[in-house]
Amino acid sequence: MLRRVLLGVSRSPQIKKAVSAMPVSSGIVARFVAGETAPEAVLATEKLVSNGLNVTLDHLGEDVTDIAAATATADAYLTLLKQLSAAGLTANAEVSVKLSAVGQALPGDGEKIALENARSICHAARNAGTTVTLDMEDHTTTDSTLSILRELRQDFPETGAVLQAYLRRTEADCVDLAHAGSRVRLCKGAYKEPESVAFQDKRSVDKAYVRAMKVLMNGAGYPMIASHDPRLIAIAGSLADRAGRERGSYEYQMLFGIRPEEQLRLARDGQTVRVYIPYGEDWYGYLVRRLAERPANLQFFARSLISK
Ligand code: FAD
Repeated sequence: MLRRVLLGVSRSPQIKKAVSAMPVSSGIVARFVAGETAPEAVLATEKLVSNGLNVTLDHLGEDVTDIAAATATADAYLTLLKQLSAAGLTANAEVSVKLSAVGQALPGDGEKIALENARSICHAARNAGTTVTLDMEDHTTTDSTLSILRELRQDFPETGAVLQAYLRRTEADCVDLAHAGSRVRLCKGAYKEPESVAFQDKRSVDKAYVRAMKVLMNGAGYPMIASHDPRLIAIAGSLADRAGRERGSYEYQMLFGIRPEEQLRLARDGQTVRVYIPYGEDWYGYLVRRLAERPANLQFFARSLISK
């Protein structure tokens, strides 16, 4: 309930303006966001990689409203990939891209613009020796994102997809994407969605997550289990064992700043673990989704606002 209210209220321009005025270094923002610049993101990557973790980096921003902003996002990824490569990090660090940040929602040719921008990022990633995963946004974009994924995979079959367990369609999408060479990140889903398309209560979402994991673990692709939920992490391990999967034929993923000890524990246990690092100036939408996931975060947030 609180989650839905927060996600709704966060659309107010006044609230966005007030919150965005907070410095990125302030408590709650710094907990979830690695900084505003590529060098800061590279530094955070170096630290995690030196602790045996892998990384996927997200240049923050979503729903761009003009071509110049879409191109600027693509350019930011090209700069980041160059810096990751120069730092010798691309064996352990890839990038995650939101298609709405590279033009998907622009009227008219938006989908084509997003495809071309994503293509140039995939190209740069391959030259740097790494990969791209397409983040998944709200349900109105799912078909478009999966269609762009199919196009990209013709030239870049290593491109990863994200599926959201809360969507009623996801089990069927898992069946479609559980083929050899297919990298699929499974998450619960972070947007406010109507009941017609998405399960609403935690129990139903968790059950749907397990059903989707079963399809992915028993399939021929590379499942990426993106969750901090201890129960789902344990079930993922059992399903992988039952499917006869070797370690390294699937991975765990968590967000920067959330359950860091668990990230290290899994890595020490010989599992592949990837941390999703967001960075950039446009951190508002990302922060709100993290606050909405956990009421306790709101206390830290309130303290950050007061000490501003
Ligand atoms: P929950 O039931 O929400 O949480 C389980 C436990 O994890 C909590 O009890 C708590 O201990 C901890 N926890 C979870 N969230 C927080 C938090 N914000 N602060 C503090 N502790 C927390 N969603 C999309 O819609 N599209 C995407 O492309 C996408 N990409 C993602 C990539 C990665 C690598 C990850 C890990 C998540 C991604 N998400 C994405 C977000 C995801 O959909 C969930 O909203 C988020 O992961 C919380 O769900 P959970 O599985 O951790 O379970």
